[in-house]
Amino acid sequence: MSKNSSRTAGRHFLQIPGPTPLPDRVLRAMDTPIIDHRGPEFAKLARRVLDGIKTIFKTTNPVIIYTATGTGAWEAALVNTLSAGDRVLMVETGQFATLWKNMAVKLGLKPEFISTDWRTGADPATIEAKLKEDKAHEIKAVCVLHNETATGCLSPIAEIRQAVDRAGHPALLLVDTISSLASTDYRHDEWGVDVTIGGAQKGLMLPPGMSFNALSDKAVAASRNSTLPKSFWSWEDMLNTNKLGYFPYTPATNMLHGLAAAIDMLHEEGLDNVFTRHERFAEATRRAVRAWGLEILCRDPKYYSPTVTAVLLPEGHDADKLRNLALDHFDISYGMSFGKFAGKYFRIGHLGDTNDLTILGALAGTEMALTLAGVPIKKGGVQAAMDYIVSAHADGRRAAAE
Ligand code: PLP
Repeated sequence: MSKNSSRTAGRHFLQIPGPTPLPDRVLRAMDTPIIDHRGPEFAKLARRVLDGIKTIFKTTNPVIIYTATGTGAWEAALVNTLSAGDRVLMVETGQFATLWKNMAVKLGLKPEFISTDWRTGADPATIEAKLKEDKAHEIKAVCVLHNETATGCLSPIAEIRQAVDRAGHPALLLVDTISSLASTDYRHDEWGVDVTIGGAQKGLMLPPGMSFNALSDKAVAASRNSTLPKSFWSWEDMLNTNKLGYFPYTPATNMLHGLAAAIDMLHEEGLDNVFTRHERFAEATRRAVRAWGLEILCRDPKYYSPTVTAVLLPEGHDADKLRNLALDHFDISYGMSFGKFAGKYFRIGHLGDTNDLTILGALAGTEMALTLAGVPIKKGGVQAAMDYIVSAHADGRRAAAE
């Protein structure tokens, strides 16, 4: 029903690509008395999460935990490794890459921004070519988003690492995994990433307000020579106090309790199972979109995102109106569109603590909202998603039996 009442019954469908719905177990873990952040009980908690978070980034090096949103962890990665005037190579995969580039400019860095049409991921060959041109090694860092949340395109980080190596270039590799971590495979150490930036509010199933820098030895060494001003973001202070089980300032104690629970939950499910689950949701969503006869913004399947799908509407149809109508009638939220595509697409988030039936419910709401909005679609998107989910489960059963 369109709203004529102040109460909405049932649970809201939060299908934005983060923040994601919180598992009850995380909520319960955070619902606990505050402890002394300089006391022994806190040190136990800190050690548990500082060790545990390494297993999510797949690193044996330290991971810094900030009481800040992802934007803070972006800044921390830049100010700890770079100096004013340094050149950095960035890729314009979409809105979030653009925001990071704008931050680099504000910090006094000189970004070179490889442009794309916002419908693809970062191309390793282009990065390699740019680095080969830089004979004097003036470029100090390559900065890419693993998953561009604004467009639903995933970039191949292992291949980008190989491209940097093939170019024989010493630049640091800085990777934003804010909307991919704990949802799709990511290997900080194995892929040779120098700083991985993470956020709490997506695959980690926590509220917004916590973010991460996973480090390499090379990044820590670079931080000793970096001259950009840093105080709150300083890795040095963090690393020194973290060693003792503490933080240099008051940490978000209750978020850390939530983090401990989230890490346990991810391992109980098994990281590979978490990744398979996200792949299944993503493919089911894409099949629904194709069955409706609509276009996926990410135009090359090799870059498809496991966590968010951006759906283009036909000319003359306003995606923001569709989102409002869907919220009004079916109590579902989608991600908005940005830049030159503003109003032209909406994003279905399919990540975090969610399951097949929630995704199907979301797709059913979407099919109804598209119909109600007068968008010319074919029926059968939900059926296509169900057929795919059944086949994926059947394949899983067969594999388990072998
Ligand atoms: N990077 C990516 C890929 C994001 O999706 C976001 C936010 O959604 C950010 C950076 C900025 O993070 P925050 O909004 O937590 O500051």
